[in-house]
Amino acid sequence: MRNCPLQHEDSASLLLDHSAGHLDADQSRALNRHAETCGRCRAFLDQQDRLWRVLDAWETEPVSFDFQRRFWLRAEQASAIRWWSGISWKPAIPLAALALCLAIGLPRRPTPNPPPPVDMAAAEAAEQAIEDLDMLSQLQSQMK
Ligand SMILES: [Zn+2]
Repeated sequence: MRNCPLQHEDSASLLLDHSAGHLDADQSRALNRHAETCGRCRAFLDQQDRLWRVLDAWETEPVSFDFQRRFWLRAEQASAIRWWSGISWKPAIPLAALALCLAIGLPRRPTPNPPPPVDMAAAEAAEQAIEDLDMLSQLQSQMK
């Protein structure tokens, strides 16, 4: 490895891939050789190793009983906010009036389909990600 990966935006992800075990053996060896002579990369890799050890030792709590309901509620709220904020209201008003007329004139639709079942491992990962994001935003607001 001729150049330090931390000095180039394109190659900086090599260090993360290395720590996550996503590099092939040749790339890993080259990066390790570089880190022997580069203090910044060695420090970065040491930090990543510590982080992975902490994450590996971290025991997750079981998914709460109403996690799936809360997850879908948040997902719906997030997509609703995006959807509503992008609307220009003037052309939507006649459409809403037309939809109201149709809704009154037509029999009601059966209840909407329930959300698809969630893979529990993916659900745990998603809940963890949400909690991490909450924690990061709290940290960020404390640092301001
Ligand atoms: Zn380096």
